[in-house]
Amino acid sequence: MSEPIGSQARPARIAVIGAGPAGFYAIEALLKQQNFYSTIDLFNRFPTPYGLVRDGVAPDHESMKTVTRTYDKLAEHTSVHYFGNVTFGSDIQHDDLKQFYDQIVYAVGAQADRKMGIAGEDLTGSYPATAFVGWYNGHPDYRDFEVDLSCERVIVVGNGNVAMDVARLLVTAPDELAKTDIADHALEALRESQVREVVMLGRRGPAQAAFTTPELREFGKLAGVKVIVDPQELENQVIPLNDKMAERNLSVLRDFAARTDQIGERHMHFRFLVSPVEVIGENGKVAAVRIERNELVPDGSGGMKAKGTGVYETLDAGMVLRSVGYCCVPLPDVPFDDKTLKIPNVAGRVTQGVGGEVVAGEYVVGWAKRGPSGVIGTNRQDSAATVVSMMADLPNLEGIADENRDPQKMIDFLKASGVDYVNYEEWKRLDAHESARGAEQSRPRVKVTRISEMIEIIRRA
Ligand code: NAP
Repeated sequence: MSEPIGSQARPARIAVIGAGPAGFYAIEALLKQQNFYSTIDLFNRFPTPYGLVRDGVAPDHESMKTVTRTYDKLAEHTSVHYFGNVTFGSDIQHDDLKQFYDQIVYAVGAQADRKMGIAGEDLTGSYPATAFVGWYNGHPDYRDFEVDLSCERVIVVGNGNVAMDVARLLVTAPDELAKTDIADHALEALRESQVREVVMLGRRGPAQAAFTTPELREFGKLAGVKVIVDPQELENQVIPLNDKMAERNLSVLRDFAARTDQIGERHMHFRFLVSPVEVIGENGKVAAVRIERNELVPDGSGGMKAKGTGVYETLDAGMVLRSVGYCCVPLPDVPFDDKTLKIPNVAGRVTQGVGGEVVAGEYVVGWAKRGPSGVIGTNRQDSAATVVSMMADLPNLEGIADENRDPQKMIDFLKASGVDYVNYEEWKRLDAHESARGAEQSRPRVKVTRISEMIEIIRRA
């Protein structure tokens, strides 16, 4: 056929792998293109869409989840087909997709965590924040994650917003959490929690913290929580020029440090310029963390980095949550860069390694493209930029065989392969079930946290 790919007579076939914010924003940008026709198949590992909006955003940040209404509209567009419960690399392979799609967009996020690289970090009781977040959010992978909250003190390592989320969840009154969509198993465990103090360790100073000011302020408003900041650790801060966030953070921290009116049975303690150097165990379990005091030294590229001073102290603790950043996991048959832990790309075009040749028809968006940074909205621009590359490549695209262009071909393929996929209407049945259970308890929803149960509810309905 001589019609160009993307014309009305020859709509482009596009697969998006991953139904999180970056995947949805790629679809949004594709649907906005003028004089461009496509049918888009959206694949997702779980029956439930929304990625980190469901599995990452903290349950007490409900307003951040309203963005799912936009995602629903996109998924319900006549050109878009959702295939939930389909895992890339096991249910469908890279080579299968190449037969059916002119362009593939990887929107798989960053599923793993970075390690601290210190002794004892694999002891029982020392966990990645990713697991803890997944656990309280009802992520099926962490349904059986065993969290022991019988200790008095938890140490959270890292100064980003994920660290803020896990710390806040640990000190918030369970009755407050009971109004949210927190997973029932987590709520139950947090009701029994013996944790009375969370100590957050920032390896650099407060002026270098990655958390944002609204997240910091929240701690001052939590009932029953005393916020502890040592005024000495706020001294001699050099705020980078025009760094408004650092200025605001410091101002809030100074307010916290000056407050004398606070009482609270749970304590939130912010420490700065300290790094964990060893997690100390007792009978195979976390018992304490040895920390080293740091000083700031120039990092050689205009910033400041932490350098140990050789002054140590030991903090007793029963649990350590490391929140030092996420990283991507390689996908079978898709290039991956072991150094940057991302899918190598130029302007969203996947390349064979960093600086390597472009892989025709394959693209990347979101955290898998740029690394784990930015808020949900950051993905909108980022995905749109990849779509610009996709559009520019269309004229030179070889494309798939035209007999494979009919969207029904993929449906037939999945059925023939015995893949038990879930379409969007079916997800909406599960959504309605969760919301109805939530309404009974004046909560936004009660999450179903096992895939088998999700499928059972969907099929029963
Ligand atoms: P992040 O913002 O990159 O923060 C990582 C933190 O870990 C930094 O404070 C970093 O310190 C520290 N760190 C790294 N390696 C360390 C080590 N070996 N020892 C001690 N500390 C170490 O990552 P994140 O918190 O995982 O968040 C990921 C993204 O999601 C961010 O863009 C975040 O804003 C976003 N997010 C947003 C929200 C929200 O809007 N409410 C909620 C959750 C997540 P250095 O600065 O010294 O490297």
